[in-house]
Amino acid sequence: MAKTFLILFGAPGSGKGTQAIRLADKMKLPMVSTGDLLRAELEKNSPLGRIAKKYMDKGKLVPDELLAEFVEHRLKKADARAGAIFDGFPRNEEQQEFILRRIKPALRAGGRAFAVLIDSSDKAIKARLGGRRACACGAVYNLKTKPPKRAGVCDLCGKKIYTRDDDKPKVIADRLKLYHKQSEPLLDYWRSEGKLIEVNGDAAIDEVWKELEGKIKEKGLI
Ligand code: AMP
Repeated sequence: MAKTFLILFGAPGSGKGTQAIRLADKMKLPMVSTGDLLRAELEKNSPLGRIAKKYMDKGKLVPDELLAEFVEHRLKKADARAGAIFDGFPRNEEQQEFILRRIKPALRAGGRAFAVLIDSSDKAIKARLGGRRACACGAVYNLKTKPPKRAGVCDLCGKKIYTRDDDKPKVIADRLKLYHKQSEPLLDYWRSEGKLIEVNGDAAIDEVWKELEGKIKEKGLI
């Protein structure tokens, strides 16, 4: 089976997680979100979770070796037979090299890979992240634009929602800086290959989805 890989880029808070869920659903591909995978480890208080927390709380990147092992393990699961949608990986040059190496055989066998950039301004991002609340089950809310039905409680699993430590203002500023410095330059490769799909991330969630859906259709991905 020819595999399809989509790699989502966007600053933290650009809404790429939300769009990744929709893409996964539409394209019948699993979403591989390193942020969600790491938060699940934190929740379990596993050895990896305890190491990762130190970095995540400060808005720093978790070491590449840990992430690569994690992603490799995830891609070996049966549901990734047809490919995957990556959310939050790669975030630096080393991780991008890892992923390109990892998907190369699939591309040689007729598979496809595109990067998607959810392009948002820093101003919109700072406003959004301040109101963001998360749940351990992976659901994400925003007090202004997507509040839970019952204040403080997850619609999906009933657990208490919380402000991620990395959504505090100082950490948000650091994460944005890191994104511009380490992740944004990775787009050059995809742009030069003619494999970059760009959408305006400052628009409302449904508008972003409409633009994205139209563009992936144009590429014959759905
Ligand atoms: P996210 O939910 O994607 O914003 O990720 C939350 C945090 O998890 C980040 O600020 C990092 O500390 C860590 N993390 C997620 N993905 C990666 C990655 N690809 N490389 C290193 N750290 C990551």
